[in-house]
Amino acid sequence: MIRSPLHKKLVRQIENTGPMTLAEYMGLALMHPEHGYYATRDPFGTQGDFITAPEVSQMFGELIGLWAAQCWLDMGSPSPIQVIELGPGRGTLQSDFQRAIKSALPDFWTAMQLHLVETSETLAGVQAKTLSDLCARQPTWHQSLQQCPQGPFLLIANEFFDALPISQYIKADDGWHERLIGLEAEPGSNQLQFVAAVLPEPSDRLLPAPVRQSPSGTIAETCPVGQAITSEIAQRATHDPGIALIIDYGHTESAAGDTLQALKAHQYVGVFETPGEADLTAHVDFATLKSVAETAGASTTPVMTQSEFLTRLGIEARTQALTATASDKQRQDIESALNRLIAPDQMGTLFKVMALYSKDLPELPGFALS
Ligand code: SAH
Repeated sequence: MIRSPLHKKLVRQIENTGPMTLAEYMGLALMHPEHGYYATRDPFGTQGDFITAPEVSQMFGELIGLWAAQCWLDMGSPSPIQVIELGPGRGTLQSDFQRAIKSALPDFWTAMQLHLVETSETLAGVQAKTLSDLCARQPTWHQSLQQCPQGPFLLIANEFFDALPISQYIKADDGWHERLIGLEAEPGSNQLQFVAAVLPEPSDRLLPAPVRQSPSGTIAETCPVGQAITSEIAQRATHDPGIALIIDYGHTESAAGDTLQALKAHQYVGVFETPGEADLTAHVDFATLKSVAETAGASTTPVMTQSEFLTRLGIEARTQALTATASDKQRQDIESALNRLIAPDQMGTLFKVMALYSKDLPELPGFALS
């Protein structure tokens, strides 16, 4: 059975050239120019497939804007300052950020040159509409971080790293085998399935140290693209003063396990069910990103839960300020948004926050150990 236009292309490609890597599958499912999930749609919101923190409440982007303003002051107020956002989605975080900064610290607002790194033309179009009247200077769009100019920077990435292609490996008696995507064995079957690469990897060095000695049958993941981007950010922070804030769901310590998931209309679906029509993500391994950043020469903060970080930034006081003048209905909405962002059974604990920054900068606001 053909499940989506992209499914048909994937089946043909596998028939012609053999199993593909999971990273290639994810890259095509999310970003294929005609059929990729992000390339073709705006997936956010109650009508869409999932809701991200900035879509839950304006408080999220505002607090990050105010945090960035404090960082900018601590950096010595460089002007211009490149504000880079990776994967801005609908541009909601950035619009709340800009509004908050414009009134709180106009000098930061005018010093800011905004760079949006976005591979989806559809979403870049939505961002342009949302942001065109909010920035002091027109934002610029880029396909990758490499294209952003050098210079002092503040970088934000919310739910960006979880969308990057991962690789998976399965442990067998003779070592770790990459998990590839092939077709079910019956002749003529169009059903995609995982198959293990015939030969094991020559080395287990590509996996985080704590998972290397796992028992047979264990699945482990890596995200080479996420590591490369983190390394690039850290290297930039060795040339120019720079601070990057990474927020995503994932784990503080590296751990084995299969975290790949597909989400469609707020429901989990099979990862091969409708390629190109469901969001595919994997948990972010913060311990690995932290060590990559440090190896490349940056300082890193401890990894904190979203709940703790937003609480330190004053989300409770902000909630009170907003509810003070609100109607009953508005107050309920604001309080339920707060709950969604910080409650342990919502986004509060699963989502983590980490920053990396130039070695000669002072300790970052929001992260000081008390
Ligand atoms: N930050 C937003 C959106 C998160 S969804 C929010 O919090 O609401 C992931 C975003 O990253 C989308 O905008 C998607 O198009 C973009 N994206 C995914 N992979 C990318 C890549 N390799 N390079 C640039 N953008 C990418």
